[in-house]
Formats: sequence, structure tokens, C-alpha cells
Amino acid sequence: MPELPEVETIKREFAQVLTGRRIESVEVRSPIILDIPSSQFVGRVEGAEFRNVTRRAKYLVVDLSNGFSLIIHLKISGQLLYVLPDRPIDDYTHIIFNLDDGKQLRLRDVNSFASIWLFKTTDIPSFFAYRKMGPEPLSPNFTYESFRALIKRHPRAMIKPLLINQHFVAGIGSIYADEILFYARVHPARKVSDLSEEEIRRIYDGTRQILPEAISHRGTTTQFYLDLRGQKGEHQNYLKVHAKAGKPCEGCPGVVEKIELSGRGTYLCPSCQH
Ligand SMILES: [Zn+2]
Repeated sequence: MPELPEVETIKREFAQVLTGRRIESVEVRSPIILDIPSSQFVGRVEGAEFRNVTRRAKYLVVDLSNGFSLIIHLKISGQLLYVLPDRPIDDYTHIIFNLDDGKQLRLRDVNSFASIWLFKTTDIPSFFAYRKMGPEPLSPNFTYESFRALIKRHPRAMIKPLLINQHFVAGIGSIYADEILFYARVHPARKVSDLSEEEIRRIYDGTRQILPEAISHRGTTTQFYLDLRGQKGEHQNYLKVHAKAGKPCEGCPGVVEKIELSGRGTYLCPSCQH
């Protein structure tokens, strides 16, 4: 699933190449991805220009020139692609925006869980307030003290399910939770109340180090993720444990293992993480 670094990568590319582009027409091939009837959606976005683009958690927010904003969530396997119109269109292409430069912005998703909402730009804060999103882990306000205070409110939680809980911290999913906990040398099934001060500090440090590294590598492609130009990320080449079951651990002579934790595949080195 695209997590914070992947959505941030798409956001930065979007800002570079799509700001100011006008939507000439829209072809809705799967109305189910929209929160409003497709005729209404098309009527509101056609003729509008892309303006400011931001990210909140794993959501991309694209302000339009007409007072509305697109909110896009790629869920597990969604891809947002800025392509030439001659690129083949398959059954998994759910919406096509025809732009004034002759290119297209397409949303493609083999699982069809991706979603687009159309909200008034002034209503965006209430969209996120309703979802009770946790803090942004790369924001300047996300200090060690604030993280420590936050984590202490969940003494009975297991650390990995807590890290990927979007109400706790926004934007972290399974890939980066596995990597952060390897960095922190903490077993993903540990209870928060059993974590030492030093371990909490290492989880915080890992979060603040690994997410920016992954952004600098334009995200992780383990399966579906592609950037706006249709290219894979590169951070998969830097993963220590995620999706590396059976591979040698970089930190010890042991081997990376995969376990199930709260229904999620979870990767760890049982020798390095306690
Ligand atoms: Zn190890």
C-alpha cells in the first residue's frame, strides 16, 4: 500500500508537472470510486485547473481553481499516472482526466478500492477532523516529547498495530512500521507498557530517519506502487526486513522471518528485535 513516502513522492511530482494544467474533460469508467454521482463530479471538475497540492496521512489533496478539491486515496494498489493518451487503457483504469497539454491523468487500481472525494476546499479540514487522523510524523510539532506523551496513552497496545493505526500517527503502514521497529530493535508484538524509555526513543528516531530516507528514494515498490510518471520507487533496495523473509539479516548472522500479527504479515529479525 502506498504509505506516507509514496504519497509524498506523488504529491511532489504532481506539484511540479500538473500545477496550472486544466481539466478539459473527464471519463469516469468506474463510478464506484467517486463519493458523488459521476455526472455531478464531471460537471464540477471539467474546465477547472489544478492548483495547490498537499498530503495528509496517505491522502492526496488537489485544490482546483473553482473552490473544490479532489481528495485521493490509493488504498492498497492504486496508481495515479500522468501519461500520454496512446498508452493502452486496461479494465483497471477507473477514471481519466484529459488535460490541456494533451496528456492524461489516470487512476488505475487492480483491486478497485481507490477512492476520490470532491469537497469544497473550505470543507477539507472537516473531512480530516471527521476521520480523527493522528499527527503527521514529519511535522515540526511531532517532537519526541509529543510522541512519548501519545504512546503512553496506549499502554496495552501492541507496538506494530499501534504504529499503523492512523488515529495514532498518520501515514505509517506495514512497510515502514516493520523497518522502524527493526531500526529500534523492538519486537513488533511488544506491549507499549513494557517498552523502556530508550526503546521509545529509538522508535521515534527510526520514524524521523526512515520516512525521509524513503522519500529521498521516491518510495518503496514491493508490488503495485508507481510514481506519477509510472516509475517504481527505489527504497525497496534499502529495506532491512520488510518483504525479506528468509534473507540474511544485515545486523546479525540470523535470518529475517515473517509472522502474522493482528492479521498483517510482519517481518522481523528475531535475533535483533526483542
Ligand atoms: Zn538480525
